[in-house]
Amino acid sequence: MKIINSISGMRKLVLKWKQEGLSVALVPTMGFFHEGHLSLMRSARSKADHVVVSLFVNPAQFGPNEDLNHYPRDLEQDAKLAEDKGVSCLFCPDAKDIYPPGFQTWIRVEGLSHGLCGVSRPEHFRGVATIVAKLLIIVQPDMAIFGQKDFQQLLVIRRMVRDLNIPVNIIAHPIVREPDGLAMSSRNTYLNAQERESALSLVQALRLAERMVALGNRSGPEVIQAIKNHIQSFSNTKIDYIFLGDPESLKQCREIVGETRLALAVWVGKTRLIDNTLLKQ
Ligand code: AMP
Repeated sequence: MKIINSISGMRKLVLKWKQEGLSVALVPTMGFFHEGHLSLMRSARSKADHVVVSLFVNPAQFGPNEDLNHYPRDLEQDAKLAEDKGVSCLFCPDAKDIYPPGFQTWIRVEGLSHGLCGVSRPEHFRGVATIVAKLLIIVQPDMAIFGQKDFQQLLVIRRMVRDLNIPVNIIAHPIVREPDGLAMSSRNTYLNAQERESALSLVQALRLAERMVALGNRSGPEVIQAIKNHIQSFSNTKIDYIFLGDPESLKQCREIVGETRLALAVWVGKTRLIDNTLLKQ
């Protein structure tokens, strides 16, 4: 597996593969790999001749008071894990090359970026859309794989790719969970033992909602109230949002009909966790 830092080096390698007629899958990440990341890599490997994993803790998607400086990093371990999954190249660009002095070009996906995580993280999706567009332009993959855990991010990227006519196939990958159900996240490492218990309130709330819907309850407000009660019964939790609405347009709904996305963001101590599920009538 090659570790490449320079944009020109990355371009050269992909050009060589393309000239050989080989397909390329990109898995964008911020590193500190867990089974969620590895599962994306495995899937990419099964679909393309070469997998490029980008590892870039993107400053532009962190707010001023967020965890950019504390975000967990372990390049050596990440490189071992990626190599083990058959990844051809780990692309770790420098922030000064991605955002050179004078940088002033941003991509904003209007509408889809505004609700849910966009409320408490107003510039987050601008940072995400811009870095993903840059990675797609640099790597020019045939496909790029993203986790459903960040489902709003996935919608934003799909919209951007359509709107800008970027020739890439965006593939969604299911949420990978710990044995007790907690959605895997690099940020789970921030949790102490008691917070780790409280973190389970998210997946439990999703399962509770699924059971209510399976039993015939269609009332959004009732489902949301039950979720609130459940999460608030755990210590150190603070709900950022509970979203119930259309899985594509993100329009909120009060009645659960057809397929409805339920998404949560919850502070557990100082850690903000997200999770989601698709409710089916
Ligand atoms: P991150 O390093 O957190 O930016 O995540 C990189 C990619 O991995 C994104 O597409 C995430 O949606 C995906 N991802 C992170 N955690 C999970 C998970 N538990 N299950 C599935 N995909 C995940």
